[in-house]
Amino acid sequence: SAGMAKSKFEYVKEFEVQDTCLRNCWVVVRVDGKNFHRFSEQHNFTKPNDIRALQLMNRCAKNVMKELDNICIAYGSSDEYSFVFHKNSNWHKRRASKFMTHVVSQFASSYVFYWKEFFSSQPILYPPGFDGRVVIYPSEENLKDYLSWRQADCHINNMYNTVFWALVQKGGLTPAKAQERLRGTLSADKNEILFSEFGINYNNEPLIYRKGSVLIWQKVNEVSKKTVKLSNETEEQEVEVSRWRTEPVLLHTDLIGEQFWEEHTAILSY
Ligand code: ATP
Ligand code: ATP
Ligand code: MG
Ligand code: MG
Ligand code: MG
Ligand code: MG
Repeated sequence: SAGMAKSKFEYVKEFEVQDTCLRNCWVVVRVDGKNFHRFSEQHNFTKPNDIRALQLMNRCAKNVMKELDNICIAYGSSDEYSFVFHKNSNWHKRRASKFMTHVVSQFASSYVFYWKEFFSSQPILYPPGFDGRVVIYPSEENLKDYLSWRQADCHINNMYNTVFWALVQKGGLTPAKAQERLRGTLSADKNEILFSEFGINYNNEPLIYRKGSVLIWQKVNEVSKKTVKLSNETEEQEVEVSRWRTEPVLLHTDLIGEQFWEEHTAILSY
């Protein structure tokens, strides 16, 4: 540090390689649960969608957005979450390793920290792990397509899983038979199986399952009660004070298409 004499060992610092994310580009960090196929079974997740697990993921992502700087939007489904750092961010001099390790460690510690708020009757049996990666997108179009890609993946997986688990849980098929039944089917076929065999209209399934979760910063009005003494002569009074705060707000909406971006132009601008 400044002013201190350098030791003869100082040269080893030069072995660190530069990993600056290209300037003026969007930086995406995606985390994904390690072996959550097993983790979800061992912790008795409801199939195909355990709402507690999704809410916990959203809580963790909210914490990441609040603790780290310059994240303008996040998107999650299943055991994964993507965080977008604004292209103008100079956080940690744009070092990829800093972006990625701060996101993944903050996310993983939050997952354990907040677990019992969502899984009150299910203890956490072992410390879960998450992997992380960094991808740089040089244009707004590439970034929007990235988010659309993750949402399309959510849709495809959720539709498959919804039919698969209906066949297993309600149709009495073995997992192998259900998989066989679904081999080669198109989206329309899956809709038809759900509707004609199980009376399920896929479009009525909850949005959080079908669209995944979006977090963006929005101004929210916070009302709190305060006790004030207006003057020495009067009694203490309880008054309501309201103030605006910028908070990560959760949405379950289409990122695919232009509408979302037209309605939320502030996300990608500064
Ligand atoms: P990897 O370590 O390669 O990521 P993985 O087992 O985590 O392996 P993924 O492709 O990430 O594989 O899939 C995550 C799995 O976690 C899903 O297939 C599903 O079984 C389970 N899972 C995640 N979230 C939920 C949830 N909310 N409800 C039920 N199951 C879930
Ligand atoms: P950054 O996020 O940049 O790493 P930092 O506050 O963690 O900021 P470090 O240079 O990593 O800065 O210093 C870690 C600090 O944590 C120490 O200066 C010390 O104040 C405190 N600390 C860490 N471990 C201990 C410990 N075992 N006992 C007392 N203080 C500790
Ligand atoms: Mg994977
Ligand atoms: Mg995983
Ligand atoms: Mg995954
Ligand atoms: Mg430190």
